[in-house]
Amino acid sequence: MKFGGGTHLFCKLAAAVCAAAGIFAAIPAYAADGGEEAVAPVQAVYGIYQNGIGWTENTEDNTCLKAHADSYVTCFRASVGGQPAGMTGTLAYQVNLSGSGWLDWEENLSQAGTTDSVMPLEAVRMKLTGELAALYDVYYSVLQNGAWSESVMNGQTAGTEGKGLRIDGIRVALTVKGAVPGEPKLMAAGRVLDPTKPMVALTFDDGPSKETIRILECLEANGGRATFFMVGNRIASYPNTVKRMVDMGCEPASHTWEHRDITRLSEAVLLTDLTRVDDTLEAVAGVRTRLMRPPGGAVNGPAKSALAKQGVPAILWSVDTKDWKTRNANKTIDAVLSKVRDGDIVLMHDLYGSTADAAAVLIPELTRRGYQLVTVSELAAYRGGMTPGLSYSQFWH
Ligand SMILES: [Zn+2]
Repeated sequence: MKFGGGTHLFCKLAAAVCAAAGIFAAIPAYAADGGEEAVAPVQAVYGIYQNGIGWTENTEDNTCLKAHADSYVTCFRASVGGQPAGMTGTLAYQVNLSGSGWLDWEENLSQAGTTDSVMPLEAVRMKLTGELAALYDVYYSVLQNGAWSESVMNGQTAGTEGKGLRIDGIRVALTVKGAVPGEPKLMAAGRVLDPTKPMVALTFDDGPSKETIRILECLEANGGRATFFMVGNRIASYPNTVKRMVDMGCEPASHTWEHRDITRLSEAVLLTDLTRVDDTLEAVAGVRTRLMRPPGGAVNGPAKSALAKQGVPAILWSVDTKDWKTRNANKTIDAVLSKVRDGDIVLMHDLYGSTADAAAVLIPELTRRGYQLVTVSELAAYRGGMTPGLSYSQFWH
């Protein structure tokens, strides 16, 4: 179809979809009318419907968009962002729905698949049309049977049809004709939390360290996130770990520059300390912290008023694993599983191999038990929010 003036149509569609989902998606900027150049790159914008959960946010080009660990994909929708005004064509897509075979081609965020039955998608095809097809290629792959398929392009089939294998994720990338897609973005940008289901915030203090990456990989494999209260002077030593943490949606947070007792610092020294952590994090990963955890859990009135000026709350915990003391994975696992409840904040330390070992068991097990593994900010957002300068140790109902 023609997109002349259709940039507006896309905006409206995308806005309607986002409003319907009750969430904000990253909508790229679009060209103004009158044939001006696009201000955003031409890219695929897409979302998946997760059985039993709902639509993800629409994600950006070349993102590995994965269904929640307990779910899979039953429906797909996509469009093109950043298309120059006046350029004809769009992204068309077709799905193979288990039990129904290949459905009709769809485009412009129309739904391909089902949102009211449990039947999974087994395969997908995509193609560009109009002038877009002359200038760009579309590459795509699916997560099936635990692995991402090789990328295919321009109408080829991604996925194995007729074998009862469900699709658990989809990745789409538009490239200038003849170019190859870059490295995919790692984590599902589309994330849907169900506020009616239990949530737990795993938190890791005193890192980053060489153990942190294992914890991140396990979280990613299980569709979970966690919060990392980092000691500022360690951040620059683990730039790739910290960048990955941020890219996958985990929450980087402050544990002061060098793990000092904040009740013994003057306000000026504390504020300078927290700003130094933020400046370092911003230089490494482009973001600043929104939370802090006082070393040792020590906080008092003057420290709280300083935190209020800094605009951050103090985050304590409701489950203390004592992992730093026992250095024993089984004891850490038991400390969590024996008492965990909806709304808990769990304290661990990503300095120790025994803690990473424990996390490798806890993360899939908590997920299996129905807990959504969320950041502290996500948990708070669903449970009444936080106020800077106050302290929080749990978000129970
Ligand atoms: Zn600490």
